[in-house]
Amino acid sequence: MAIFVHKFGGASLATADNVRNIHNIISEKIESKSIIVVSAMGKMTNALEKVAEAIYQGHDWQQEVELVKTFHLELCKSLFDDTVLIEDQINDILIEIEWIADEVNDNYDYIYDQIVSIGELLSSTIVQYYLSDKGVNISLVDARDLISTDQSYRRAIIDWTTTQSKVKAVLDSNFGKVDYIITQGFIGVDDENNTTTLGREGSDYTASILAKCSNAESVTVWKDVPGIMSADPKKYDIAKKIDQLSYSALYAMADAGAKVIHPKTILPLKEANIPLVVKSYAEPNTVGTTITNQEDEILPPIVTRLDDQRYIRLTPTQFQQTQTEWSILNQFEEQKLDVNFFQKHALSYSICVRDEFKLQAILDSLSPEFSIESNTGISLVTILQTTPEIQQTIIRSNTIVMEQRSANVYRCIMKSK
Ligand code: ASP
Ligand code: MG
Repeated sequence: MAIFVHKFGGASLATADNVRNIHNIISEKIESKSIIVVSAMGKMTNALEKVAEAIYQGHDWQQEVELVKTFHLELCKSLFDDTVLIEDQINDILIEIEWIADEVNDNYDYIYDQIVSIGELLSSTIVQYYLSDKGVNISLVDARDLISTDQSYRRAIIDWTTTQSKVKAVLDSNFGKVDYIITQGFIGVDDENNTTTLGREGSDYTASILAKCSNAESVTVWKDVPGIMSADPKKYDIAKKIDQLSYSALYAMADAGAKVIHPKTILPLKEANIPLVVKSYAEPNTVGTTITNQEDEILPPIVTRLDDQRYIRLTPTQFQQTQTEWSILNQFEEQKLDVNFFQKHALSYSICVRDEFKLQAILDSLSPEFSIESNTGISLVTILQTTPEIQQTIIRSNTIVMEQRSANVYRCIMKSK
């Protein structure tokens, strides 16, 4: 049986019109026997992160939940004439937040996964409801019936053997009856039946895991850009679409922080030799980018930029240091914060990470031993296949805090404007 996997991310689900558009894409473009993976709608994951933070810190979380609820209800009002049944389903999903808030548990990562996964549960329920209403023969399968993981909350590691057999069982029992299966990206389950998540932007990874386990023909990721771009078209007018790319080149881009695809997505597809197609949901008739094992022709300079970063410079205050490079990095790892840039200088360390509240605890623990300079509003730029001209175009008049160069890669930390 030829299986296909299609993934729709948050932006493609952000409005009622976008959900209608997904229906058009499915009825006109998507092969029967496809697994459809959906993320949370719009910016709902960020909103739910705030709920998790508030619960953990013992602050008022109800208000944030109201925002999440209103967003989904408004979208449903625009999609359906009668919203009674779908409202009930939304309320049933949201009630779980109260249960988690009542639980006595001070493991932030655990709370985070139970709360933040609700975005995907809501979106998949609404999309399935809409598609069925439109006559699409589709069933909703809970991702926890497909993807098994360990208990590393917020960065769960896949149990491939169990996942493989669960995927097979679900496909066997569904694809005789329905044309499509819809499921949530980003989430899995541990062996105590707690929800786990695979890391921010992890829905792409879900698509790739499902493709590998079902030996799919291809994975298509539908995005708000025409394909893989050489830079973010919203920020740089030099951005152009790349038609063909190797998995290795895509990995280098993703690793540098390009938001195109979650880095973990690539390896399972590369290993199983499954093509990945990235294309525009707004212009579904255009070709997009195809990523395969084929070697690259000459690639243009590729720019990636991570915003909302914090730049931290640590300078030891004492001659005798107990903290090593490794122990510093380990503290970020323990708080599940990705270090996007790390450099050791003769007498200090430079670090760039996404700015979030968990950072303070790390800075507090480092502060007795280091004097700490910390700047917010920072961007981390990486240019692959760099040239002096492109560097000039990208940096313009921005203030550079720190630069790093190697053969054909240029990285810099700059103040965002
Ligand atoms: N909803 C999750 C996030 O925003 C997963 C995803 O979109 O891939 O990080
Ligand atoms: Mg997303």
